[in-house]
Amino acid sequence: MTLAVHMRCQRVRVGVGMALRHCTGNFLSPRRSAYMTPHSSMSIFSRQMNMEAQSVAAHLNSSGFIRSQGLIGGKWTDAYDGKTIKVCNPATGEVITNVPCMGGKETNDAIASAYDAFVSWSKLTAADRSKCLRKWYDLILAHKEELGQLMTLEQGKPLKEAIGEVSYGASFIEFYAEEAKRVYGDIIPATLPDRRLFVLKQPVGVVGAITPWNFPLAMITRKVAPALACGCTVVIKPSELTPLTALAAADLSIQAGIPPGVLNVVMGNAVDIGDALLASQQVRKITFTGSTAVGKKLMAGAAATVKKVSLELGGNAPCIIFDDADLEVALKGTLATKFRNSGQTCVCANRVLVQEGIYEKFANALSSAVQSMKVGDGFGEGVVQGPLINDAAVQKVESLVQDAISKGAKVLVGGKRHGLGLTFYEPTVMADVKGEMLISREEVFGPVAPIQKFKTEEEAIRLANDTNAGLAAYIFTTNVQRSWRVTEALEYGMVGVNEGLVSTEVAPFGGVKQSGLGREGSKYGMDEFLEAKGLVQLPSPFAMTSSKSSFPCGGRGASIFCVSLLLLLS
Ligand code: ADP
Repeated sequence: MTLAVHMRCQRVRVGVGMALRHCTGNFLSPRRSAYMTPHSSMSIFSRQMNMEAQSVAAHLNSSGFIRSQGLIGGKWTDAYDGKTIKVCNPATGEVITNVPCMGGKETNDAIASAYDAFVSWSKLTAADRSKCLRKWYDLILAHKEELGQLMTLEQGKPLKEAIGEVSYGASFIEFYAEEAKRVYGDIIPATLPDRRLFVLKQPVGVVGAITPWNFPLAMITRKVAPALACGCTVVIKPSELTPLTALAAADLSIQAGIPPGVLNVVMGNAVDIGDALLASQQVRKITFTGSTAVGKKLMAGAAATVKKVSLELGGNAPCIIFDDADLEVALKGTLATKFRNSGQTCVCANRVLVQEGIYEKFANALSSAVQSMKVGDGFGEGVVQGPLINDAAVQKVESLVQDAISKGAKVLVGGKRHGLGLTFYEPTVMADVKGEMLISREEVFGPVAPIQKFKTEEEAIRLANDTNAGLAAYIFTTNVQRSWRVTEALEYGMVGVNEGLVSTEVAPFGGVKQSGLGREGSKYGMDEFLEAKGLVQLPSPFAMTSSKSSFPCGGRGASIFCVSLLLLLS
């Protein structure tokens, strides 16, 4: 899901929420011309759209909800050289505010703060950490509306969906506030009669968390909540496209009593920040959600200091509809997995594989459902499809659709930029798609459902697995045996059976193959931030004395030496 975003740091700092300014820069200029459409009714609609967004921005600003500085060691901080980046509303092209364009120096200070804070945060009892997390959760829910509005402003998703993400994001904090108290070690039956073996679980240390723009809150809480629950401290780098939700959530973490330095936020020059996180000996773990290309770079970079790495990367999800599927269930599931967040999620159905017996019926039903989707500003009544994040995103969708058309695919609905202009794209259904088309091989990250026909179950499995990605897959069938057979054959980290939504805080989320490493959410998500320390003990001086006869080393000192040797060899 890499999008060429050309953002330049600039020196001038402008006020917050001054919604009359438009974003400039390569990626926004096409938006502006489309926005100035001569179509008069469209202009009235756009003006209404702007007024709504402007009044929300003004309200959030006056209530202190729009933070426009980074957070280092508990202090709100500008970039040291004063440079800033614009944060824009994708539905209007207007500037919401400017945030600091930070780099390596600020990141190193954030790491140092996190390193200092680790000493005391990791020593707190799990119950005390849990209380802080619970308070943070309560505050996020208490400000669900404002956080949702902020998310719609900077990311574009419909308000209802944004508020849904706030609840979903908060659920990780609640879950891990509870899990904090369940970090159990082990006692292992020893191989020698007078030895005792234990496993202690301890926090890895300072964590660098790099997150994308499509889920401005949930991608952060899914990483930060388990990290903090374990006793780790974090430096977060949110996407420069959507830093405001992250900053507002960070502000609430301070109000919740999470001590200064435990949670730091830097943003700006992604490469410099990433390099500083990778180079630091103090950062012991990198957790990343984003494109496969950047994930590979981070994995390679982490090798120099041998950090732990968790990667949640791109997908190419097949959504398989068998002849024996319940049409209504399949339709509902496909719409949910394909069109959520305007198709901009890594678990979105990327290929809709439909068996020949139900192909026509399903394509017709999907087309008429998609035809009736309301597109617009996320604040608009009844809107279910917002804008794409930026013009680069629209261009990518356009090129994939054009490639498919040129190779024989048919557009059933949509297929072009929406009349609203800017980065709005029509919800689209395409038929007669083939495996060799780019749309089947690349992550679309837009509201396009490409339908491909298949004949047999074996063919469906082969097509589904014919990709380097392996994040989520979906199957729709009423045959229980088939559902198990196909689930087991799919090379994916998650499978939805008659279900289009697979994300929940209580289940593991993550991919296989080039979709990533590690799992987020659930009890498995805790392990990513823990080290298992082996402990071999001689429980008492008596045991040490008695060990003389049974152990091929002489005396107390030698016994301790031998235990150390055992540890080294294990
Ligand atoms: P997306 O297409 O979702 O923006 P990216 O992988 O480009 O996916 O970005 C995900 C996150 O990774 C963002 O926060 C982005 O700023 C960050 N990022 C991009 N390039 C790098 C890099 N070289 N080092 C560290 N972080 C990076």
